[in-house]
Amino acid sequence: MIQNSSHMTERPRLLILGAHPDDAEYSAGGLATRYRQLDRQVKMVSVTDGSAGHHQRSSQELIPMRRAEAAAAGAVIGATYETWDFPDGRLQPTLEVRDRIIREIREFQPDLVLTHRPCDYHPDHRAVGQCVQDASYMVTVPLIVPDTPALRKDPVVAYMPDLFTRPTPLRCDVILNIAAEFPVVSRMLACHRSQVFEWLAYEGDILNTVPEDEGERQKWAQEWFAKHIRPRAIRFQDELIARVGSSQAEQIEFIEMFEISEYARRPDGALLELLFPNAQSA
Ligand SMILES: [Zn+2]
Repeated sequence: MIQNSSHMTERPRLLILGAHPDDAEYSAGGLATRYRQLDRQVKMVSVTDGSAGHHQRSSQELIPMRRAEAAAAGAVIGATYETWDFPDGRLQPTLEVRDRIIREIREFQPDLVLTHRPCDYHPDHRAVGQCVQDASYMVTVPLIVPDTPALRKDPVVAYMPDLFTRPTPLRCDVILNIAAEFPVVSRMLACHRSQVFEWLAYEGDILNTVPEDEGERQKWAQEWFAKHIRPRAIRFQDELIARVGSSQAEQIEFIEMFEISEYARRPDGALLELLFPNAQSA
């Protein structure tokens, strides 16, 4: 049986497939926020259970904790956040993972899917990126994963921001200025308390700077996030200048940039504008 995807595309649906609880908002929280402000459906998925992300807590303690943190982060913008059960730090691009992703894309019927590039520092990110790439066309093939009806059209797939350079840097097909969404994304990230205020602070050797007071923590999370994403606009300044000119580019501090996958649906200019509202035009 084949489904009709005629719901396309006045109110596009966004599915973000990240490897860990917090990847989706860290990399694409600005776009996700913009979707929700336009009353569009957003679903965020962590393919792994997050059970490896701590220096003190046990995996058994972390799994429910991180599931709750992710749900809270999603609730900030009214997005669904689902955490799957594949073990954190152990993910491989297996048929099991690919089939699960094929089912997810077919059931949610997104117009846009965001994920990691298959070249990335983290093996779990690479595995998710590979599986999404491998699922991109297969979602339209009825005899693959026949328990879930195939789509007539594959969604657009795009890769989320990263700064890696080998074998090739991310190509900026789309750039968003996320200054307006930045505080909201910071709030989402601050929901991942076991990460931002504990594990990532421990890893970054800044645990002693994390405040006790809740209001101070929110401010601290904003500064932490700003420090981490400022390099994007610096790295891709030439691309920004080409779009908005140098005086405006200088003012842009926080961006999200996306590369459209060539293995899934290829959007024309009008669809691109619909899927990435208020992008900096090329
Ligand atoms: Zn991750």
